[in-house]
Amino acid sequence: MDEEKKIRHIFKKLNEIYDIRTFRDHDPYQVLVRTILSQRTRDENTDKATDALFEVFPDIHAVADAPIEEIQKLIKPAGFYRVKAGRIKDVSQILLDEYGGEVPNDMDELLKLPGVGRKTANCVFVFAFQEAAIPVDTHVHRISNRWGLANTKNPEDTEQVLMKKVPKDLWVDLNDLMVQFGQTICRPIGPQCDRCPISDCCDYDLEMLDN
Ligand code: SF4
Repeated sequence: MDEEKKIRHIFKKLNEIYDIRTFRDHDPYQVLVRTILSQRTRDENTDKATDALFEVFPDIHAVADAPIEEIQKLIKPAGFYRVKAGRIKDVSQILLDEYGGEVPNDMDELLKLPGVGRKTANCVFVFAFQEAAIPVDTHVHRISNRWGLANTKNPEDTEQVLMKKVPKDLWVDLNDLMVQFGQTICRPIGPQCDRCPISDCCDYDLEMLDN
């Protein structure tokens, strides 16, 4: 099977077992804040912190004006709450001062914001603007390397490889499908290769069988 066929086969299989859970229709500002909150924590903690924050401070003006201690308290479930509260407040103020309160749909501009790296910026592209981009988190990085699609040491390099190899029409759904797959089957520790629907496409499984 050539590489593009293999990739399409993998994503067809993932589409058969997972629904896309994206945050399409969400406000770009809320997507950006949610993504900052999601750094180095689990989805359920991100959800709790995001809901708590926007219940009390529902929009960018309210967050920018909020006392930092209040933000810290509300987002505590997401961890690193002091750093994240500072970033969220700073980002909100910068967006109000320099971008008319709108999240820019531009990689260079997004990367200028505090706490926003390529993964966060790509999440905003995909989940807020539904534009083709590849957010590479720990699941996407690990699984791409297990499949043998990438042979990389860090998410930034993985993103570059995936952008070259994965057909663009698959980019928007890639993160969500691979995250669900990484949470349920291709787990960081103890991947469930014996019930994996795409073990025929995976170098990791072949290595295990060889040993
Ligand atoms: S065979 Fe195992 S390592 Fe490979 S994709 Fe499936 S679960 Fe992950």
